[in-house]
Amino acid sequence: MIELQLTEEHIALQRTVREFCAGEVAPYIKEWDEKSHFERSVFEKMADLGLMGVCIPEQYGGAGFDYISLGIVCEELEACDTFLRVAMSVHVGLNSLSVFSWGTEEQKQKYLVPQAKGEKLATFGLTEPNAGSDVIGMKSYAKRDGDDWILNGEKMWISLGDVADHFLFFCWTDAEKQKNRDHSGISCFIVERTMAGFSSGTRSTANSASRRATPVIFHYRM
Ligand SMILES: Cc1cc2nc3c(=O)[nH]c(=O)nc-3n(C[C@H](O)[C@H](O)[C@H](O)COP(=O)(O)OP(=O)(O)OC[C@H]3O[C@@H](n4cnc5c(N)ncnc54)[C@H](O)[C@@H]3O)c2cc1C
Repeated sequence: MIELQLTEEHIALQRTVREFCAGEVAPYIKEWDEKSHFERSVFEKMADLGLMGVCIPEQYGGAGFDYISLGIVCEELEACDTFLRVAMSVHVGLNSLSVFSWGTEEQKQKYLVPQAKGEKLATFGLTEPNAGSDVIGMKSYAKRDGDDWILNGEKMWISLGDVADHFLFFCWTDAEKQKNRDHSGISCFIVERTMAGFSSGTRSTANSASRRATPVIFHYRM
C-alpha cells in the first residue's frame, strides 16, 4: 500500500516547483500562448532542478525520487500551465519510464540518461488519425529488411511532436496478428528526429494553448 503522507522531501520539492512556476512560467504564459511560442529554456531550467528525470534512478541520470514526487511535480505544473504538465508527463511518464522499464541497457544509456538529465526531449507516438482509444486501428507498420527495420506510419496528437528529439513509435510488426486484431503483434521502436525519413508538422487549431501543447503529426517513411 502506498503511504500518501507527504515527507519533508516531498514538501520541499512541492515548494521548489511552485516557486519555479511562479517565477519562470506564470509571468510569460500569456505571451507564449499568444505567439504560439515554444520556450525550450523552460525545460533547461526544469532540468537544472532535476525535474526532467524526477523519478528516474540516479544511475540513469535522474533525481531518484519516488512516484509520489512525479505526482507532486505534475500537480504543481498543472496548476500553472497545462502544457508544461502534459510535456512533463509525456517526457518522464510515457517515454522515459517505458525505456527504463522495458529498454535494454544499451538503450537506457543512449536514450534514457540524456532524457533524465533534460539534455534531450522525448515523447510517445501511439495515436493516429484513425486510432485513439482503440489502438488496434493503427495503420503504422514496420518490416524487416535484412538487418534493418523499415518503418512506415503517421501519428497525430503527439505532445512535443514538433520539438522532441526522441520518439517511441508504436506500429504493427506482424500482419497476420493485425488481421486477427491481436495486440501482441504491435511493437515499439525508438525513433530519433534526425533519422532519415522523419518529418513533423504542427496543425493550427482554434486554441493557442493547445497548439503550443500538442496537435502535431509526424510522418516516418523510409
Ligand atoms: C493534450 C493531449 C495530449 C496528447 N498527447 C499524446 C501523445 O503524446 N502521444 C499519443 O500517442 N497520443 C496523445 N494524445 C492523444 C490521446 O491519447 C488520444 O486523444 C486518446 O487516446 C483518445 O483518442 P481519440 O482522441 O481518437 O478519441 P476516441 O478514441 O475516438 O474516443 C472518442 C470518445 O469515444 C469513447 N470511446 C472510445 N472507444 C470506446 C468504446 N470502445 N466504447 C465506448 N466508448 C468509447 C471515448 O471514451 C471518447 O469519449 C494526446 C491528446 C491530447 C488531448
